[in-house]
Amino acid sequence: MVEKKASEAGYNLVILMVTMTLLNIALAIALPKWSHVIRREREEELISRGFQYAEAIRIFQNRFQRLPVRLNYDDNYYQQRYQGIPIEGYTAIIEKLLDHPAIKVHLGQALRASDRGQFDHLFWSGPLDAYFEHELGRLQYRSLVFERFDEKGDYQGNPVLNYCEEAVSWTRISEHKHFAPWEEHEKTVCFREYSKLAEDGDIPYYPLRLQGDKSMLQQYIDLARKTKGVSFIGRLGTYRYLDMHVVIGESLDFVKACLAAPMSEWGKFSGKPL
Ligand SMILES: Cc1cc2nc3c(=O)[nH]c(=O)nc-3n(C[C@H](O)[C@H](O)[C@H](O)COP(=O)(O)OP(=O)(O)OC[C@H]3O[C@@H](n4cnc5c(N)ncnc54)[C@H](O)[C@@H]3O)c2cc1C
Repeated sequence: MVEKKASEAGYNLVILMVTMTLLNIALAIALPKWSHVIRREREEELISRGFQYAEAIRIFQNRFQRLPVRLNYDDNYYQQRYQGIPIEGYTAIIEKLLDHPAIKVHLGQALRASDRGQFDHLFWSGPLDAYFEHELGRLQYRSLVFERFDEKGDYQGNPVLNYCEEAVSWTRISEHKHFAPWEEHEKTVCFREYSKLAEDGDIPYYPLRLQGDKSMLQQYIDLARKTKGVSFIGRLGTYRYLDMHVVIGESLDFVKACLAAPMSEWGKFSGKPL
């Protein structure tokens, strides 16, 4: 009786060991597959989130017509291959541009629509709604307040630092001497920039282009099309956020088209406002 129990126990032990071995083999085959599946699921999740980010950025860019968020470590502000500022600065370029007998410069004087009659044709680079004295309402812009402060030496080591924290009230600090690193200066001039909605009397910098602005913009476009002898140009005239090279490129194309046509056929906008 005792012998039979011992042999049954030995038999059970063998079955248990075989089962355990089979289980281990099955686990050894299945585990890599499971972990592979889990890894693939995570990768798919990552890709799908990446697409969501990309889509969100695309919508943001379409809607606000300005720079999207950068999701990499490229610390250049712009993505163009060639970047820089004129070697002699902007003043030299502007002086050369204005050095023409047909050009007269009047500083500190605001032009108004009522001055139109003094000219054969007017190219208006001010806000589109301001030309019509906001008769259909005010298009919205963001404005900026600049606060200058001077320091000795080097304040922040590069031209622009953005501040995204909610607790900091300025959006960025620009330290101008770093725009011209070939120059040497003992002191340094910096500007803190504060962003605000443009109110009466503020300089309009960035067109907002929210849904309400766009429907009002359409009405101003219709009004502009009916107005003779004036073309609306540049960032404020066409109510778009544009970088400098885009404005310059569009203006050169626009002036070429004007010079090739009689004045009565000159275009209404230097670029498509909508
Ligand atoms: C803070 C800031 C930083 C920027 N940084 C960059 C950058 O790093 N790189 C870049 O490429 N772009 C930059 N931009 C954009 C760049 O400034 C614009 O693309 C460019 O100035 C647009 O040129 P514009 O001739 O269309 O308009 P503006 O340069 O705005 O010129 C319009 C002119 O019309 C004048 N005006 C308006 N109304 C009247 C009136 N009634 N009578 C007489 N004159 C009037 C204004 O005073 C102004 O001088 C920046 C813009 C801002 C606001």
